[in-house]
Amino acid sequence: MKVTELNDCIVCGGPLSPVFYRVTVQQEIIDATAMRQVAGLAVLFNGNMALATAFAPSDNVSTTLQTEAANMCQDCYLNSGVAAVLFDEMRARSTDSE
Ligand SMILES: [Zn+2]
Repeated sequence: MKVTELNDCIVCGGPLSPVFYRVTVQQEIIDATAMRQVAGLAVLFNGNMALATAFAPSDNVSTTLQTEAANMCQDCYLNSGVAAVLFDEMRARSTDSE
């Protein structure tokens, strides 16, 4: 990250602490055609999504419309609820892969 990108916290406007978070938000739109192709193949393969995505012309079923990034100080990050949601998701993914 360049020094010009070290803007103040997007939430409280305060200065960043030595530990801070770079939060990126992407706005996506579902590609209905690609989604129908994957779903149709999944039906053909008895619900096997791995085969459906392997044989689909594209397994990318959404397109990024815009991406925004901002800095958050540690206090705002921990108090925003974002951290709790991300930690829950990471925990769920790690238990799924075990
Ligand atoms: Zn803050």
